[in-house]
Parts: sequence; C-alpha cells; structure tokens
Amino acid sequence: MIANPITWPNGARCAVAITFDMDSDSILYSDHSGRASTMIGTASWLRYDRVAVPRILKLYQKHDIKQTFFVPGWTAERYESIVREIVSEGHEVALHGYYHEKPNTLNPEIEKYWFDKSVDAITRVTGKHPVGFRAPSYRFSKHSLANLLGADLLYDSSLMSDDLPYLLSDKESGRTLIELPTDWSRDDWPQYTNNSELGYGMPIKSPKQAMEVFLAEFDAAWAYGGLWVSVWHPYVSGRLARLMAIDEMIQYMKSKGGVWFATLEEIAKYTQQQIEHGRYMPYQDTLPFHA
Ligand SMILES: [Zn+2]
Repeated sequence: MIANPITWPNGARCAVAITFDMDSDSILYSDHSGRASTMIGTASWLRYDRVAVPRILKLYQKHDIKQTFFVPGWTAERYESIVREIVSEGHEVALHGYYHEKPNTLNPEIEKYWFDKSVDAITRVTGKHPVGFRAPSYRFSKHSLANLLGADLLYDSSLMSDDLPYLLSDKESGRTLIELPTDWSRDDWPQYTNNSELGYGMPIKSPKQAMEVFLAEFDAAWAYGGLWVSVWHPYVSGRLARLMAIDEMIQYMKSKGGVWFATLEEIAKYTQQQIEHGRYMPYQDTLPFHA
C-alpha cells in the first residue's frame, strides 16, 4: 500500500504522535475581533483548556509518553503557567499562529508580522526556539513555507499529501522542510463539535463512534508502516468521557505493540537522519502548487 516505506526506530510498525492544539479563546480574537468580548459562552467552552491540559499531562505521565502541543502565541502569553507545565513535563510546544489567524487570508507582510510575533512569544514562554508549526485551521498560505524556513524550523504539520513524512520544497529558494502530515479523519472537531455561534454544526458522536474513526486510521498505519498524527484540542477531547476513551486508546496501542510514541520534533529529526543516510526517499511537493 505504501510505495516508499520508512523504517521506524527499534523495529516499530508505525509512529504515533497524539498532538493537541491548545487554542483556548485565541480563536475568537482573529475571527470575531469586534464581538469577541461578547462571546462569553463560546469563550467559556474554549477556556476549558485550563482544566483539560493538566489532565492530559497526567494521562501522559501515567503512560510515560512525551507528546507535542501546538499553542498560539497569544494563548502562551495569557496562560503562561499551563504552557510552562507542559514544558516542565518534557513535552514539545510548537507554533500555531499568534491570534490563531488564518495565514492564507492575510497579505504576506501581515502574515509575517504575526508569525514573527508568535515565534517570539513561544520562545520567551518556553525558553526554547520552536522547531515546528501547524497553520491555524490548516490555512497554510503561499508564503508560509518561506516564513518557516526563515525561522529555521524543522517541520510543518498542516498538510495532507502522504501517509509518511515528506518534503516541502520552496519554489523560490529551493530549500526544503519536513512535512508531518495528518488528515481530517484524525481531527476531533468533525466528531465532537457543535457550536452555533462559530457556525460549526457537526452532530456530536459518542467517544466510541469517534474512536472507531481514529482507530481505523491507527490500525491501517500499524499494518502498513504509516504515521498517525492526531489533531485534537484539549477543550474538545480533554472532557471526561472523551479523555477516558483516549486512555483506553493508548492502552490498546501499547498492547498491540510495535508503536513508536514520539513528539513531532523527534519524528522530524529521525526522518531527516534517514534521508541524510539515504535510507528513506520521501515524496516531495514544491510550493506554491500554482504560483
Ligand atoms: Zn487551532
């Protein structure tokens, strides 16, 4: 099924990165700036991150795994102590915009302004220059790759063109960046989110139904040597019943065996090594697709 397989470390069958995007209420300020302060109900739903993130960290502690959190710069500055807790537990914090702005809706100068501000905020709060990025709402722009390369990042995790890590090549400079792809089938919004104020009305699935979708993808990744990256949100999947299901999911993955749980930074570094040693020939996309 996979034409150009990668050999995962220690004979693992697949790589798993449970990534959470800790948006919190940042998303109100980019999309609804004029009325954000009036959206109390929706803000309260998003601010559940305060409860969910420490709970997720405990779950990771229990399973002894390190994972990746994408955090907008504004969120890191507002909820600094939570982000510091993520770092002190040994997890990775990566970039996710400043106000959760959508890069492909901005002109290049404005996009770069907010991108640089997000790098500064995450570096200051975590004490470490970030190495990864996920475009808010997957809205990668024609200029995003140049910004990521300019900031010496190692990887992006917003795009969806393969089952394995692949390369994004910048048409202008010829430089490349590793893409750690995901897919909407591993995103929790379509499964669980119903918010009329945000214009998002998916019928809410039970954790069992949602897990069927997520685990079908995992079982296939395990069977064919793939990469499984979730795009989850603490305020969505960190609620009690859903987090119970995640606990069971990790137990299931562990009992199946041969699963490499890693941060995206670890997966990107490993991929880079494999490429450098001529052990892996990734698919490559040149951006922009159509100038
Ligand atoms: Zn987000």
